[in-house]
Amino acid sequence: RRAAASLGKRLSLCRLRSDSAAPCEARFDVVVIGGGHAGTEAAAAAARCGSRTLLLTHRVDTIGQMSCNPSFGGIGKGHLMREVDALDGLCSRICDQSGIHYKVLNRRKGPAVWGLRAQIDRKLYKQNMQKEVLNTPLLTVQEGAVEDLVLTEPEPGSPGKCRVRGVVLADGSTIYAESVILTTGTFLRGMMVIGLEMHPAGRLGDQPAIGLAQTLEKLGFVVGRLKTGTPPRLAKESINFNILTKQTPDNPSIPFSFLSETVWIKPEDQLPCYLTHTNPRVDEIVLENLHLNSHVKETTRGPRYCPSIESKVLRFPNRVHQVWLEPEGMDSDLIYPQGLSVTLPAELQEKMITCIRGLEKAKMVHPGYGVQYDYLDPRQISPSLETHLVQRLFFAGQINGTTGYEEAAAQGVIAGINASLRVSGKPPFIVSRTEGYIGVLIDDLTTLGTSEPYRMFTSRVEFRLSLRPDNADSRLTFRAHKDAGCVSPQRYERASWMKSSLEEGISVLKSIELSSSKWKKLIPQAPISVNRSLPVSALDVLKCEEVDMDLLANAVPEPLKKYTADRELARRLKIEAAYESVLMFQLQEIKEVQRDEALQLPQDLDYLTIRDVSLSQEVREKLHMSRPQTIGAASRIPGVTPAAIVNLLRFVKTTQ
Ligand code: FAD
Repeated sequence: RRAAASLGKRLSLCRLRSDSAAPCEARFDVVVIGGGHAGTEAAAAAARCGSRTLLLTHRVDTIGQMSCNPSFGGIGKGHLMREVDALDGLCSRICDQSGIHYKVLNRRKGPAVWGLRAQIDRKLYKQNMQKEVLNTPLLTVQEGAVEDLVLTEPEPGSPGKCRVRGVVLADGSTIYAESVILTTGTFLRGMMVIGLEMHPAGRLGDQPAIGLAQTLEKLGFVVGRLKTGTPPRLAKESINFNILTKQTPDNPSIPFSFLSETVWIKPEDQLPCYLTHTNPRVDEIVLENLHLNSHVKETTRGPRYCPSIESKVLRFPNRVHQVWLEPEGMDSDLIYPQGLSVTLPAELQEKMITCIRGLEKAKMVHPGYGVQYDYLDPRQISPSLETHLVQRLFFAGQINGTTGYEEAAAQGVIAGINASLRVSGKPPFIVSRTEGYIGVLIDDLTTLGTSEPYRMFTSRVEFRLSLRPDNADSRLTFRAHKDAGCVSPQRYERASWMKSSLEEGISVLKSIELSSSKWKKLIPQAPISVNRSLPVSALDVLKCEEVDMDLLANAVPEPLKKYTADRELARRLKIEAAYESVLMFQLQEIKEVQRDEALQLPQDLDYLTIRDVSLSQEVREKLHMSRPQTIGAASRIPGVTPAAIVNLLRFVKTTQ
């Protein structure tokens, strides 16, 4: 009777489906909990890999919700988006259908560290993401709050580890799955804070996840607490933009996705942003009211690189801080004041805002607020994002201590692929530090852990010159196609065409050799020294900052003209030329790191008790916590000494 009742409930819950003709299933290959930036990518990736997937989330109408800033990308984050796209993920394509102000950051530096960024229309993004997710084959979407996990005995050969078998919803119904991915964001025991008021919430207007947090703690997961915050939203018509600095978008816009030739809206139709600044009066209001601000008093760690105005005033007294006024959408009446994240009581937020230039008459539509939430120490997951404690249970997104849509999306796509590969018994798909920013992000989390919200930066990456936004497809698309089967034929064809065109283009450029005086005549603006007697190749000329493929093709139309028809190809040939010489050195270093990464550590090693290798108790505990998969990963764990690495290396060699 219980089973029948439970099936009845499941049937009623299964009303929201991407494929309405399919029978309602209570068993799936992969179940993803949470329809945020990690969850949508995870669910779509698992489905692309061929798994029957269920996305379970509180509300379908919040799928793709941007909880904080109306923008995607930025320094380091733009790289992550390109890599998610190279794995055929969603967010870059959806941004190119929803962006309203494209601007590349870090332009003064080389293209290896450019930060692709865009303001996004929140409403459009949500609409486009929901359309995409609800129309993904093999993916079912269902509303529900997950309260508990179904667990069973360990699989043979993995003593001591239980295995996840499904999830239990708040209404008591059970859904079975071969793999489960948790992407619950800021919802685990989430508490919303304004001034001295605190109440349970995952974010504004959403309930927290309490039962699930308790389950994870009971299972023995190490849980920590973090905080974040968001600025108030302002009424557009109440701001005096005329006296502020205007920022116009780039022309042309550089799309996020390798599949987008252009973005949906022309640069001249995109919206501007405006810049204003804080002043000493803002500092006074913050400092005079610290006693009314419990978020600031809390000792929990907040985001270092996206701090609240209170932290900025406390950490950098007497400084003026930038406030960017960003549009929330094409037809939105709201402005997002980036840099003004604040948790003061609402009336004091208003007072603070109106003493800023241009905002003297600004109306606050809703106040800023903070959120405090549980996260799980990411050293408890492996690079495939599967937990060490529970087999086939994966964590992705803010639950792992990261902050940002892009970091969440990057983990989501990897968790989705691996949850699906686990079901079909295939080896995990791991991106290494030498292959991508995603590899750096996951390696940092799983080996170092984090005690404050982690965000991606180019400075975290050793091989920046190779891991560029322009070449993410050549680094990841072919592997994802071969090892995970998660890439559409259209993307695979485009990446293959680009790869062969680049190889051909570079070899043609190398083969065109002229004297320097001839080049000087053809391209007078190129800084070519005419004293050189040796011929100079077209590739060397393209390395000059002043020269691009259009100039070069005007000078030598045959055979170069054909490489300018595809604008992306022309742009990429220029970048390849610029990095050609420096990359030769980096390749050697990459090979050395890859050698260490190839030395695998046995995954069933019990570091706490093993006697065949000499390790201090401290090192044993650190290795036990992080369970590094390779000697390379072990060597990056703080406190694991070079002597311990030598001993581990000897041990690995004797056991192999
Ligand atoms: P979310 O996007 O939060 O998605 C979680 C999803 O899980 C939600 O759909 C929720 O409904 C669902 N869910 C949770 N529990 C359950 C359950 N038990 N059952 C079913 N569904 C469940 N990022 C920055 O980079 N800079 C910032 O300044 C910044 N400020 C922020 C301020 C606030 C107030 C908030 C809330 C977030 C902020 N972020 C910021 C973070 C950014 O929004 C997140 O990093 C990103 O959204 C994380 O994506 P996610 O998929 O992990 O989680």
